[in-house]
Amino acid sequence: MSIQNVFVAGGGVLGSQIAYQAAYTGFKVTSYDLHPEKVQKRIETLRAGYKQDLKTTDQQFDNGLANLSYISQLPEKIDADLIIEALPEVLDLKKSFLKEISQEVSTKTIIASNSSTFTPSQLKDSVTDPARFLNMHFANRIRLYNSAEIMGHPGTDPAVIEQVIAFARKMKMVPVHIKKEKAGYIGNTLLTPWFNAALDLWANDYATPQDIDREWIISQGASVGPFMLFDMVGLRTAYQITTNELQAEPDNQTYQRAAKRLKQMLDAGKLGQESGEGFYHYPNPEFEQDDFLTK
Ligand code: NAD
Repeated sequence: MSIQNVFVAGGGVLGSQIAYQAAYTGFKVTSYDLHPEKVQKRIETLRAGYKQDLKTTDQQFDNGLANLSYISQLPEKIDADLIIEALPEVLDLKKSFLKEISQEVSTKTIIASNSSTFTPSQLKDSVTDPARFLNMHFANRIRLYNSAEIMGHPGTDPAVIEQVIAFARKMKMVPVHIKKEKAGYIGNTLLTPWFNAALDLWANDYATPQDIDREWIISQGASVGPFMLFDMVGLRTAYQITTNELQAEPDNQTYQRAAKRLKQMLDAGKLGQESGEGFYHYPNPEFEQDDFLTK
């Protein structure tokens, strides 16, 4: 069976990008979110990026939009070959959503989670057919950074993994198959210690986020620093992940301080790129100024 109809649950920073990229590459996509009007706005803001990065015309972008529909309530039956869950990184929320939709799908439906930190084994017992459950993990700015990490649990049917790999290729992703479960996949296994080191430097007042980014970019010849990436990922998700880490290590003072500071930023409406302010100000962030790396 090849995947044709896709249902994306959660239309936030990542869910909106996944839904649009699938629609752009020809799939019929339903986006489900409590706030569909916000999802529509997020998707419209992708237009400029597609035009700049992929030389997409307005007509081509609109053709993608025509493949999308938006809902705010779960239907009684979900007619989809693939459901991609991109809800907030909160274990109980994901589990209860998976439990609920399992009752509403047909036996052919594959369910995938885009979770960054929870493994398929942590989620699989919430679905009625774990053999058809796996994780499919996208990177932010998926039109450009187009890897899709695909990772089953020991009971995932290998044929399901193959189907999802084929789907990833059709939506112009490069599928990366993780052969056995690894929390953090490949990307975050490499990235998380780096993010945590950056939080340590910031939350414990060793240096400003801007100086931490500058040092990394100049000394490593890198194109981005950790706080530029935090803004791109979105501070809601950064906060949720830090809170999850704190739950696992309640005495860790760096996580305590980082969670407190991130919460203060969120309370002040600083969500990252999305809200116009995070560690930098948008749409003309300080790191794009000519003297950012020289002052
Ligand atoms: P987000 O906070 O930007 O978006 C979450 C969306 O879910 C919001 O639009 C919210 O309205 C919606 N929502 C919340 N509760 C809901 C419910 N009960 N029913 C329907 N919709 C609901 O989060 P995000 O950054 O897009 O992250 C989503 C998932 O993607 C997480 O699992 C995260 O780990 C993963 N992810 C994020 C990134 C990233 O860079 N942000 C990268 C890879 C994977």
